[in-house]
Amino acid sequence: MAATILDGKQLAEQIRRQTAQRVQRLAATARAPMLAAVLAGDDGGAVLYAESQAKKCAELGIAYRLERLPGDASQADLLSLIDRLNRDDAVDGVILQQPLPKTCDAAAAQSAVRPDKDVEGASPMSLGLLAYGRPALLPCTALAAWELIKASGIKVEGANAVVIGRSQIVGRPIGLILMQNHATVTTCHTRTRDLPGVARTGEILVVAAGRPRLVTADYIRPGAVVIDVGTNRVTETGADGKAAKKTVGDVDFEAARQIAGSITPVPGGVGPVTVALLLRNVVEAAERHIG
Ligand code: NAP
Repeated sequence: MAATILDGKQLAEQIRRQTAQRVQRLAATARAPMLAAVLAGDDGGAVLYAESQAKKCAELGIAYRLERLPGDASQADLLSLIDRLNRDDAVDGVILQQPLPKTCDAAAAQSAVRPDKDVEGASPMSLGLLAYGRPALLPCTALAAWELIKASGIKVEGANAVVIGRSQIVGRPIGLILMQNHATVTTCHTRTRDLPGVARTGEILVVAAGRPRLVTADYIRPGAVVIDVGTNRVTETGADGKAAKKTVGDVDFEAARQIAGSITPVPGGVGPVTVALLLRNVVEAAERHIG
């Protein structure tokens, strides 16, 4: 039987509705949450992304402040702006739009964001808090994978979970979240021996490798929950013989869906949930600040 499709767009819509209600409660009792975005230079993609973020915030009633820096801003300029936002009681969340100026150290800048305002959950401190099991804003993509696992209905406690990928922003935090929810977790990477064999032990299989269609049918345990985090732009020849760009995951979706119990599509799986969770993190941060 073909797998159930875990619809990320639908889940994202549900998360947005719940987030909007929390925003309304905050606005009625105290003030609307506020997200501040730091944008350096005028990279077309980053400007478009910031505009789309502003629109999404407005739809939910979240205040949005765009802080612009010149494209040649120094590390000191960037850190000074982050420091100002860290101290500003009106700001609940801070996001650093990529790309940052080449003159800046992106990792150091991310580390400078106060953990309780790090709505991307991207700083070393946020990952450390997660590792220690302390309250923290969780990295949005890892959290999205977790929300989709919950939506599958699988009993996580005691389940064998395999994560392919160990990056600080995706694979590692997903493994930690699963471990904290009492799964037995195996994390795989480029040095893992017999990757298909290890992957096949997973009742839950999360793939975050950044390799188009790495995971084929022989990686999948029958009935497994498969979460495909991968987002890869590839050029492929269509039925009409023309080459076209498309987005594919790290999982061979058509093959995997014949074996898995449930599976996320790409696009339309983890991606939309990640976007919705960034705004939920802003509200989460605001509730803690105001509360
Ligand atoms: P990354 O930093 O490049 O990390 C990739 C990880 O996968 C590494 O740990 C690497 O192992 C492992 N890996 C790569 N090829 C492998 C292979 N052939 N076999 C086993 N392990 C392999 O990537 P990332 O930032 O975590 O992103 C992963 C994917 O998620 C990308 O496609 C990215 O576009 C996507 N992504 C999606 C979202 C979203 O919202 N949907 C957000 C962020 C990222 P080593 O450590 O040994 O090198």
